[in-house]
Amino acid sequence: MKKALITGAGGFIGHHLVNRLKERGYWVRGVDIKRPEFGETAADEFLMLDLREREAAEQAFTVPGGFDDTYALAADMGGMGFISAHHAEIIHSNLLINLNSVHAAANVGVGRYLYTSSACVYPSGAQQVTDVTPLREDQAYPADPEDAYGWEKLTSEKIVHYYNMEGRLPVVRSVRFHNVYGPLGTWDGGREKAPAALCRKIAVAVHKGGPVEIWGDGEQTRSFMHIDDCIEGLEKIMDAEGLNDAPVNLGRDRMVSINELARIIANIAGMSELVVEHVDGPQGVRGRNSDNTFLNEVLGWEPSITLEDGLRPTYEWIEQQAKTAGLLG
Ligand code: NAD
Repeated sequence: MKKALITGAGGFIGHHLVNRLKERGYWVRGVDIKRPEFGETAADEFLMLDLREREAAEQAFTVPGGFDDTYALAADMGGMGFISAHHAEIIHSNLLINLNSVHAAANVGVGRYLYTSSACVYPSGAQQVTDVTPLREDQAYPADPEDAYGWEKLTSEKIVHYYNMEGRLPVVRSVRFHNVYGPLGTWDGGREKAPAALCRKIAVAVHKGGPVEIWGDGEQTRSFMHIDDCIEGLEKIMDAEGLNDAPVNLGRDRMVSINELARIIANIAGMSELVVEHVDGPQGVRGRNSDNTFLNEVLGWEPSITLEDGLRPTYEWIEQQAKTAGLLG
């Protein structure tokens, strides 16, 4: 039986990935500083460890016979509201997490190591207009990410690269996610991202009335990938022959404005009229989209779940969460 380690297994993507690897017959160890918030983990073993501690990382990566596959998802992260206000905390925690994880994996010896990077690595200068040109992997340099979160991701890609280059990690992957959404993701409390925040705000507006707040003019653009595409992509990238440490985008390439995203969710919610109030708030870059040429080249595949299909179960799940939390009256 193959063994897999998933760090950040208490989080959104980690929770889904544990489920998937269990379906595929892996023995799975999950590691996180917290247990999954929305339901029990399917992992065979779940260790509560703080990967900022070197000994904790050694413990996480050590298992009799060694891990075949390791997925490094742990990060101190959130949506724009969080990452634009916690630069020092994010760069400190995430660098420690990734330095310790890569070092422990190399010391202990693992089969394959997959690092989850982000589209936030791309230079701000290439993302200043709403109809932005999709971002290719080689555009990450010369580097100028907007936030500390992006600088850390870029640095950790390099850390993984150097450990691989010197033969200390034999097989590595760096995956640059573009926004991922779906059920079991953070939907409230300040760390949620735009799709989840809009689902919650629209559910409240449907049940209690009032306008839906959008940060800025709402014309800022992004692409959004459903969690099922994300998990399928992760598995395919891990298995892709010849990819090794070259960072690869994993995202959808359909760009929408935040106003458009709100309209799609409002339709799903059956709202007859969407009343929006544009308020001050962090907006991040003006436009961002994924160039999937390289992804297609290496996998012969790209994410394809439409926003309309992916947001329906997401909205329904968040509406139910908000109801249970007493937000809908
Ligand atoms: P998440 O916040 O839901 O999960 C991250 C998990 O890491 C959390 O459960 C958190 O408790 C855990 N963690 C934080 N500090 C830790 C520590 N010191 N030790 C152990 N665990 C710790 O985020 P997610 O959406 O599941 O993202 C997973 C990965 O993908 C992250 O590395 C993130 O930066 C990256 N990413 C996600 C997106 C997205 O849209 N969700 C986009 C780009 C990149």
